[in-house]
Amino acid sequence: MADTARAHEAPRREDARGEEATFFGFCEAGEVRIQRCPACARHLYPPRGACPDCGSVVLTWVPISGGGTLYSFTVHHRGGPGFRDAAPYVIGIVELDEGVRMLGRVLADVDAVHIDGRVTVEVAELLDGWPVPVFVPRAS
Ligand SMILES: [Zn+2]
Repeated sequence: MADTARAHEAPRREDARGEEATFFGFCEAGEVRIQRCPACARHLYPPRGACPDCGSVVLTWVPISGGGTLYSFTVHHRGGPGFRDAAPYVIGIVELDEGVRMLGRVLADVDAVHIDGRVTVEVAELLDGWPVPVFVPRAS
């Protein structure tokens, strides 16, 4: 159940549970991994307990190639909880080369961000003590 008292506060790393906590554990080691279903060879993101295609609960964690393509983005001019001082900033949806889409911060000026632009996935600490995936546009 959502904690409505915290709805306007910054998210906290210690609130991550299950597969989500495993995902952030890899980020803390400086690595972005996503799940893969060995039964049907599908990559999965966001983290989950079972494959949505075949129902297998035997999922593995695999490193990503580190490349992706910007599918969509928006510019936050006010900033959400924990990020008000960072505004304006870009939030994008990137289709990783593995075929899954990931939401995150695009570390670039708005003028350098383009739909279908290639990005590199890196890990950066945007909130204190919480490394998360971020996207950096590649020079074209
Ligand atoms: Zn599967």
